[in-house]
Amino acid sequence: MDSRRTFVTHMIGLIATPVLLSGCRRSSQPEDEARKPVDPGLAPEPLGSPLPQIEPILRVRVFRVREPAVTITLGEEGRPFRARYLGYEGTGLDLSGPLTVSWGLRKWIIQEADGRVTRVEADDELELTTIDNLPILLEPRGRRYPGSIRLHRRSDEGEGAFDVINHVALESYLPGVLASELFSHWRRETYLAQAVAARSFACSEQAYFSTRRHYDLTDTISSQVYAGTVDRRVAYQAVRETRGVVLSYDERLVPGYYSSCCGGLASRAVDVIGPSPINRIAPLNGRSEPDVCTEAPVYEWKVRRKADEFRKRLVAYGEYRQITSLASLESLASIELDETNPHGRPVSFQLVDANGKSFRLDAEKLMRAANFSNDDITAPRETLKSSFVTVTFENGDLVFAGHGFGHGSGLCQYGAEKLSRSGKSFQEILTWYYPGASLLESY
Ligand SMILES: [Zn+2]
Repeated sequence: MDSRRTFVTHMIGLIATPVLLSGCRRSSQPEDEARKPVDPGLAPEPLGSPLPQIEPILRVRVFRVREPAVTITLGEEGRPFRARYLGYEGTGLDLSGPLTVSWGLRKWIIQEADGRVTRVEADDELELTTIDNLPILLEPRGRRYPGSIRLHRRSDEGEGAFDVINHVALESYLPGVLASELFSHWRRETYLAQAVAARSFACSEQAYFSTRRHYDLTDTISSQVYAGTVDRRVAYQAVRETRGVVLSYDERLVPGYYSSCCGGLASRAVDVIGPSPINRIAPLNGRSEPDVCTEAPVYEWKVRRKADEFRKRLVAYGEYRQITSLASLESLASIELDETNPHGRPVSFQLVDANGKSFRLDAEKLMRAANFSNDDITAPRETLKSSFVTVTFENGDLVFAGHGFGHGSGLCQYGAEKLSRSGKSFQEILTWYYPGASLLESY
């Protein structure tokens, strides 16, 4: 128990130390904005990230606690843990798992398997590693994670709120992405191409968020889906065979954006991801020829909405995002195509009201507005799968005839699988979707 006391004392001593990665203003923004650039006032826009020289350690947010007194459980029976405060110099505090952890009364409260409780007065981040280096089971998430777990208190989200962050080496992280993003029966070359795209994406997200936020990626579609340790051999093989390989252009890293199905026509990253200069490079402008994903189940779809219900949703979204023209929309007579990208995919629409007054709205914003919900407006039964739509009025209904699923920039997963089946190599698949990019073994 003496070691515990020493540990807690050290913790108190460290409270005054400036905390690494604190003071993040980005994290309170909605998930769908996660890849967009930060407020211009915060920091200068990067001109593209350098290629990684060594394998990065990523910070992936895998769980959020937002209510007081909510606990998480880490590890299993008999698993030894070591707890350290970020910046703590000593070896840390030895604990026996499973550990039940919560934040309350300005302390981390850790309960061990035998019921012993330790209170750690660390002001911000608590690191929990396993001594045996085996993946850590996290409940109630129900998943195991390689690497270590850090608990990051979120005083901006209320008493008791914290984020659970998995610190994981990039190559150990990737199999859990591939297994979540691709079907198990898909071809090896698709996995290899996806491994390179996901690695490039993760590296560029880390380069961007390292000084802006206490995590680089989430484990959802707002970054890329990540399931921790998985049981899929082809995913591990594809990661091993492409170790360190990233997409590059002009000796900088290409963010390997990808989505489920482009619907036949590529979007440009600058239109659908964000206006950052890095998104203007040639490999992210999309291929000019139609894609091969025509057999995908999400290649074509149709969604029908009651026009007035739809208008109310637009207004609610406009209020939420402070888009005045949307927030004050009193009637909706038509939604017409305003502009397409060079490949023919919609970039913006004109919304026309009953008086003939019109305004322009980005296609991506139209989609987000169509899928928006809050306390007053329930989630729509069917969401728009992409912004690649044409809109018509039929008997008071709006009919969205759409193509594809996701933003449509970079690699198209259904298309990649089709190319794999036609005998293309993963290098050819990547050149197909990121024209002008090259593959580099960066470490
Ligand atoms: Zn496609």
